Amino acid sequence: MPGSARVHPTYGTAPSCARRTTVTRSERPTDGDTLTPDQIGAMLRDFAARLRARYGGTDERALAAAHRIPPRIVVPLWVHVLTDGQNGRLSRAAVEQQVAVLNAAYGGRLAGAARSTARRVQAADTGVSFRLDGADETTNVQWFQRPHDYRIPIEAALARGGPGTLNLYTAAVGFDMLGFSTFPQWARGRPGLGGVVVDYRSLPGGTFPHFNRGLTAAHEIGHWLGLFHTFENGCQPPGDGVDDTPYEALPTIGCPASKKTCPGPGTDPVHNIMDYAFDSCMWEFTPGQGRRIRAMLAVYRIGVPASSAG
Ligand SMILES: [Zn+2]
Repeated sequence: MPGSARVHPTYGTAPSCARRTTVTRSERPTDGDTLTPDQIGAMLRDFAARLRARYGGTDERALAAAHRIPPRIVVPLWVHVLTDGQNGRLSRAAVEQQVAVLNAAYGGRLAGAARSTARRVQAADTGVSFRLDGADETTNVQWFQRPHDYRIPIEAALARGGPGTLNLYTAAVGFDMLGFSTFPQWARGRPGLGGVVVDYRSLPGGTFPHFNRGLTAAHEIGHWLGLFHTFENGCQPPGDGVDDTPYEALPTIGCPASKKTCPGPGTDPVHNIMDYAFDSCMWEFTPGQGRRIRAMLAVYRIGVPASSAG
């Protein structure tokens, strides 16, 4: 049943965070994969506490300026291709194109950014890049068709590396959901679990209309790196918890040139990769999102021995 997976988180009590192809305009998504304000608040407080413990402060801009937060981080990446024997197979070239899209997105170099002339925010080089350490292919009909329900056995069998290694799985996620991910706060204590899953049709050259340029992986990995949706918390403080992404009441659907859904300064960040626009219309992270993900990596995913996680 399309969509059923998103209300059946299979480990922990926290929901996964999914990117979807369709969201009704009249309401914010309220399914099981949507975070509550209390959850967001708790996650931001946990992050701030760890930032303070590690660096003695919580002002990411100041910490970054003082080079306390690493300016550049390379994330080792493994890609695990699931198939049912017929569907789901991906060429090495497709996998490499996906990695190239990730590096362009996180480097502020997507083609849309170069074309745009009316952007408020320069597409930022986040300082994070990805190094493809390997790819493998596994045929398992159940895993391929119901990756959300089989996350634990899938990740137990296939995940590589430690907490700082990104494991990206491709499978038939569904038609109203493109992928799902886990936040860094949830990965602690579960080394080897907590990867990112995207639909195989969302990779560059795939068959998902409007969502086949590899931005689903960029978006879901944004969650893995600790970013919330730009529309998280709507117009209410602290929004997504990043200070240079304007508040946004509703996800962006399709490809509007602009929209404004909250009072106050700025318009909606409709081209931000942590929104829901078509792949052809999302191309930027902000400098604040870049600082956030490097800080998140530093406090949750790198430099933390697996034995002390949790
Ligand atoms: Zn999302």
